[in-house]
Amino acid sequence: MELFSQKVKPSELEKGDHVYTWRKSMYTHHGIFVGEGKLIHMVNPKADGILHFSAASKSWISSGGRKKEKTPCATSDCGLEKVAGSGVRVTCIECFIKKGSLYRFKYEASREFLVAKLRGGTCTTARPDPPEEVIHRATYLLENGYIEYDLINNNCEDFALYCKTGLLSNDIDYQGRSSQANMVHSTKKEDRVGNPVQRFTTAFPRSCSKRENKDLGLRKDVVKVAVEELSSFHLRPRLFFLEI
Ligand SMILES: [Zn+2]
Repeated sequence: MELFSQKVKPSELEKGDHVYTWRKSMYTHHGIFVGEGKLIHMVNPKADGILHFSAASKSWISSGGRKKEKTPCATSDCGLEKVAGSGVRVTCIECFIKKGSLYRFKYEASREFLVAKLRGGTCTTARPDPPEEVIHRATYLLENGYIEYDLINNNCEDFALYCKTGLLSNDIDYQGRSSQANMVHSTKKEDRVGNPVQRFTTAFPRSCSKRENKDLGLRKDVVKVAVEELSSFHLRPRLFFLEI
């Protein structure tokens, strides 16, 4: 059944694929497959020890983080973070998956498919760009860094969605496009009362409707932004205020 068939084997991946894996059965972590058994993805640099390879000293350097730094695996450049603190890394598939499974994020999903998915962070109605453009964006962002990580407005799913589509919100007050963040946003105080069945029946319709409203392919406030112009696009709000 297509609704549950997004699981893929590493051998089935194609360059430019947007994939995700479940972490602690709670949330999805996303990345872009760039070939040679590696993915480029974004992590929260504050929650995960920042580890980058110093070309000068030819050694791995930790820049802090709450958790103990991880030892890079035997794969060449696994864990490489070229812009220290950016959170944008290249990682081998095994380290990305950890003990979980791999799933392919679905693009050009129907509205029915989008709403039918119980959890956010697995599909969008948006159309993806060709693989070479996707890989160019991911590689460029590994080399140059991306917008600062933010759990709600700019997380690993936002990073992968941008790589796949080049789309960003033109709304200065709202940048985030990831469906799992919108799912958290959609949970209101009144959704958290009553027994589990009551909570589900009140929260689920609101979650679906919010997810549909904020879906990258259905939103009206998104624009295509070239990866080379990303930093100036992101600075718009500050420039706006400076002009006042
Ligand atoms: Zn690895």
